[in-house]
Amino acid sequence: MVRRKEKRKQQEIASQRMGILFSLAEKEVLGGNLKWADRYIELARKIGMKYNVRIPKVYKRSFCKYCYHYLLPGVTSRVRLNSSRHRVEIRCFNCGKTMFFPYVREVKERRRERRRKKN
Ligand SMILES: [Zn+2]
Repeated sequence: MVRRKEKRKQQEIASQRMGILFSLAEKEVLGGNLKWADRYIELARKIGMKYNVRIPKVYKRSFCKYCYHYLLPGVTSRVRLNSSRHRVEIRCFNCGKTMFFPYVREVKERRRERRRKKN
């Protein structure tokens, strides 16, 4: 029981640290130090793996899931909306792969909204 509590506490600290690392990465990128940003991403990933903590959702789009390079729209990545497939497409300039983030939820909400207006 105590052990489980301890583990949770550790995970909490781990996710806080990951948040700090991601915001540091952001800062470095804006300062033009992409290499440092990549290093911070790497550290955050390592912490996540060690403590079995997922990467916070807000940061999922800030790095490439294939090569883990920091993604800065227009500089290290290209962001496109694919309206016919209802998704955001982010292409990494480092490895050339594309990630897809569906925005099904938003589309569903809009549909619901429309229905509500009709009734
Ligand atoms: Zn990549």
